[in-house]
Amino acid sequence: MANQRMQAYYDVLHRTPNPDKYDGKVSELFGENVFHMEAMREYLPSEAYKSMKKAIQDGTQLDRKMADQVASAMKDWSLTKGATHYTHWFQPLTGATAEKHDAFFKPVGPGKAIERFDGDLLVQQEPDASSFPNGGIRNTFEARGYTAWDPSSPAFVIDKTLCIPTIFIAYTGEALDYKMPLLKALHAVNEATVDVCQYFDKNVKKSIATLGWEQEYFLVDKALFNARPDLMMTGRAVFGHASAKGQQLDDHYFGSITARVTAFMREFENEAIRLGIPVTTRHNEVAPNQFECAPIFEECNLANDHNLLLMDILEKVARRHNFRVLLHEKPFAGVNGSGKHNNWSLSTDTGVNLLAPGKNPKSNLQFLTFFVNTIKAIHDNADLLRAAIAGAGNDHRLGANEAPPAIISAFIGSQLTELLDNIEKNVKAGKMTPEAKTELKLDIGKIPQILLDNTDRNRTSPFAFTGNKFEFRAVGSSANCSSAMIVLNTIVAKQLKDFKINVDTRIKSGDAKDEGILKELQKLIKESKKIRFEGNGYGDEWVKEAEKRGLSNLKDTPRALQVWSDKNVVKLFEEMNVLTARELEARQEIEFENYIMKIQIEARVIREMVQNFIVPAAVQYQNKMIKNVKGLMGILGDKEGKAASKSQLSIIIMISDHMNNITEMSNNMLVARKKANLIEDMEAKSIAYCDKVKVHFDKIRYHVDKLELIIDDEEWRLPKFREMLFTR
Ligand code: ADP
Ligand code: MG
Repeated sequence: MANQRMQAYYDVLHRTPNPDKYDGKVSELFGENVFHMEAMREYLPSEAYKSMKKAIQDGTQLDRKMADQVASAMKDWSLTKGATHYTHWFQPLTGATAEKHDAFFKPVGPGKAIERFDGDLLVQQEPDASSFPNGGIRNTFEARGYTAWDPSSPAFVIDKTLCIPTIFIAYTGEALDYKMPLLKALHAVNEATVDVCQYFDKNVKKSIATLGWEQEYFLVDKALFNARPDLMMTGRAVFGHASAKGQQLDDHYFGSITARVTAFMREFENEAIRLGIPVTTRHNEVAPNQFECAPIFEECNLANDHNLLLMDILEKVARRHNFRVLLHEKPFAGVNGSGKHNNWSLSTDTGVNLLAPGKNPKSNLQFLTFFVNTIKAIHDNADLLRAAIAGAGNDHRLGANEAPPAIISAFIGSQLTELLDNIEKNVKAGKMTPEAKTELKLDIGKIPQILLDNTDRNRTSPFAFTGNKFEFRAVGSSANCSSAMIVLNTIVAKQLKDFKINVDTRIKSGDAKDEGILKELQKLIKESKKIRFEGNGYGDEWVKEAEKRGLSNLKDTPRALQVWSDKNVVKLFEEMNVLTARELEARQEIEFENYIMKIQIEARVIREMVQNFIVPAAVQYQNKMIKNVKGLMGILGDKEGKAASKSQLSIIIMISDHMNNITEMSNNMLVARKKANLIEDMEAKSIAYCDKVKVHFDKIRYHVDKLELIIDDEEWRLPKFREMLFTR
C-alpha cells in the first residue's frame, strides 16, 4: 500500500472544482443575513426603531421595554432566514470567537411550543465561562462571567443561528475579551478627536476611527494537511525542506487563480457579502498558494467583527472545497509569511477624513494636526505597539526579511518629511511675523498636490502613511485586530488630549489659534523625530541605526509582553479609562500562557514526529542500503563489494549522523521543557520556553530537512513543501 503521503497526493490530483452555487448579481446578496437598519425599520415599531438608531449612533442604553421589542423583531426577522437557534457571539482572549447556542424553541404545555426570545435573553447571558482564560480574575472574585449585547454591531444569521455580538465581562466588571476595551478605546479617541476638531470646525460632534484590514492566508489541500500532524496541531510546518522552486520567480503574485481556488473564493466571498462584509479585492500573494482578501474599510468595531467572521467563514468554506486554510503567520519557512495590514484613519460626522489633506490651508492645518499627533503617539508608545502585535506565530515573521522588523518606526514619504522639516525650522518662538505665517501657510496649502505626487511607497515600514491613512503592517494574520486597535486608538486619544490642553494654554498666554497650533506641532515634530524612518526597514543597517537612535527592538514575544506591566502603560490605560491595572495584569498573564502553550505544543509535535515519522523512515531507508551493500559484498566479495558501495556507505553514515543529532537534541529539548514546566511564574516560564526550549526547534529541523533530501521519496511519509505549496 502507498504510504499516507502518496495517498494524499493521489487524492489531490483527482480533485475537481466545486460547481458554482450562485451566479446572480452579488449586489443583491449584500447584507442579506444582517439585521441592519433597513431590516430594523421593517420589523420594529417606529418608537423602538428610533431608540435603536439612537443607541447605535450615540451609544445610549435601551430600556427594558425597547429591548423586548428589539428582541422580538430580531427573532421574527431571523426566523425568515431559517434561524432555529440564537447565540451571544463574543471574543474571549483565546483569540478565536466563541458562541453558545440556545434554541428559540420552547415547549409551553402538552404538544405545544413557541419560539421564544425576549429582551432579557438579548441583553445579557451567562455562558459557562469557566473554560475561557481570565488571567486569575475570576478565580479570586466571582466564578462567573457574562456576555452583554453590543448594539453598535448588528446581529446576523449564520448556519441557521442568530448571532448577537456581545462583550464578555467578569461579574466584577472586568473585561475578559477584546471587544469591551476596544469600544472604550474608540470612545476615548472619539472624545479627544472631537475636542481637537473644534479648533477647525465647530460643527463636528462625532468622529469615528476607521479600519480597513487586509487578510493574508494560505490554502493547502485537505488530504495533504491531514497527513501533516504539525499543520493539524500547530498550523505551521515544523519541518520541511524548501522546494527547489520557491517564490523567487514572483510568478504567483497577481498570477491567474486556478479553477478550484476560484470556486472556493466565489463561495466565501458570497457568504461574506451576505453577512454585510464588503469584500472587493482578491488576489494571489507573494508566496505560492498564498492569497489575500481585503474588504472596503468600515468603522473600527464593525470592521473588526467582520474580520473575525471572515476568518471563520474562510475556515468553513475551505473545508467544503477540500482545502484547509492556514491563518498562521509563518506556515512555511523559506517563503513569505502572512500578515494582516491594519489601515487606520479618523473621520468626522461632517464627512471629513482627518488624515487626508484638504483643499485649503485651514483644512490642511487640521490634517497636519492629526498627522503629527499620530506620529508623536507612535513615538511615545512604540513598545506598546510592539506588545500589541506580539505572538508566537508573529515571532517567525517580524524581521525575517519579508515583514517589517520588530522595531517600530513610521514612514511618511519625502515630501511630508520636507514639510515637517520646514515647520521644525521656520516656526519661531514669540510672536510670528505676518510674513513668516504666510510662508508657512503657503507651504501647508500645497499639501494636496504634494501627496498626489507622493508615489514612493515604502513597503518595509511597520507603520506607513499611505496618502490618506496609516497602515500598521506588523499585525499578524491570525490576530484579533482589536489588540492593535485598542492600543492605537488609546495612544492617539491620549496624545490628542494632551495636545488640546497644551494648545489651549498657548492660546491663553497670548498666541493666536493657528500660531499656538503650529508651535505645538513644531514641538511634537522635534520630539518624535527619531521614530521617522524612510529607508529600507528590512536591512541590517536599520537595526544598527535604530539602536543608535535609542529605539527598542523587542525581538520575541515574552520580552514584548513585559511591556503590558510597565507603570507608564498602566497609567495611560487607566487615565484613558480603557483598561484597569487588574485587567492589564490579567491580559499579560493570559498572553504569557498562550505563548507557553503554543511553544509547548510545537515541542511535543516535533518530538512525536521525530519518533514516529522521521526516525522510522530513516531506519527503513538505511536498512535498504545495508541490504544492498551486503548483497554487493555477497556477489563481489567483501573487498570489492565494499568498494562498489561507496555512495551507499556514505549515505548509511550520513543517516546515522543526522539521526544521532536529532535524537540527542530532541532529548535535550525534553529535559529543557521538563525544567521549564516546574516554573510557576508565567513570565519566567515563557522566557524559559523561548530561550531554552524553542532554541532547539531550528537545530532539530536542520537535520530532519537534510534527511528529507537523502531519503527515498517513496519512504518519506510527510507531504513535502512542493506538494503543499504548488498543488491546488
Ligand atoms: P495595499 O496595501 O495592498 O497596497 P491599499 O494601500 O490600497 O492596498 O490598501 C487599501 C486598504 O486600505 C483597503 O482595505 C481600504 O479599505 C483601506 N482604506 C482606505 N481608506 C481608508 C481609511 N480612510 N481608513 C481605513 N482604511 C482605509
Ligand atoms: Mg497593505
